[in-house]
Amino acid sequence: MFLISNSKMLKKAQREGYAVPAFNVHNLETVQVVVETAAKMESPVILAGTPGTFTYAGLEYMVSICKEAAIVNKLPLALHLDHHEDIKDIRHKVETGIRSVMIDGSHFPFEKNISTVAEVVRLCQRFDASVEAELGRLGGQEDDLIVDSKDSFYTDPLAAKEFIERTGIDSLAVAIGSAHGLYHGEPHLDFSRLAEIHRHVEIPLVLHGASGIPEEMIHKSISLGICKVNVATDLKIAFADAVKAYFAEYPDANDPRKYITPGKIAMQKVVENKINICGSAGRV
Ligand SMILES: [Zn+2]
Repeated sequence: MFLISNSKMLKKAQREGYAVPAFNVHNLETVQVVVETAAKMESPVILAGTPGTFTYAGLEYMVSICKEAAIVNKLPLALHLDHHEDIKDIRHKVETGIRSVMIDGSHFPFEKNISTVAEVVRLCQRFDASVEAELGRLGGQEDDLIVDSKDSFYTDPLAAKEFIERTGIDSLAVAIGSAHGLYHGEPHLDFSRLAEIHRHVEIPLVLHGASGIPEEMIHKSISLGICKVNVATDLKIAFADAVKAYFAEYPDANDPRKYITPGKIAMQKVVENKINICGSAGRV
């Protein structure tokens, strides 16, 4: 089985004090860049797709591409459902071969979040698939998920403990000040809150919205229990900027094999950098 759950990956990261990077991918090229770079650096890696990504690329295509990437690069991969909300959709994707799931019920009240997540955990246990859930609510935008900053709120440490006990999840996404998309100004992370969550909670913690967060803040987060670091925006910007620069230099270019390549190279540098920051190189 080449598409695996992220459960063992994150437990190993927790034991050894690093984080596994989760990179959002969208197509063949982005999967190639992430997996080839991770394999070269011998880093465990999670490939994440939002509902919009699977709609865009096609579920069967994504599963096939990622399986093949795992085989070719001899690297077991977690293809992860990022911010999925629909239980029927999750069931279908798990039945198709996905083994790493995030059920995002963070928009629900506490009890409804618990009952929704617990149902997904029961479903995923039958497939040996791992489940991540979010408590508190991150601001910002990721694909179709847009949360105004006034609607975002931080994770309560004691509620997190209860949430985990009553749902049986494998990992918890925390809201401690990071946001999806671009930061306006320096991000502020509530480390004392993270430390408090870490004291009450035994399972691996997940940092969403890590693009644009300075390296030393990522290190500090890892020292306080973060075992999975999600990166999307930084990859998109690097890829798009390089392709734009290529077209600025060669306005008549029309061969995708040529104009996509600078994007892949730029993205590869970001992937290398994030793997180094996470401390996951050589941990396969
Ligand atoms: Zn996220």
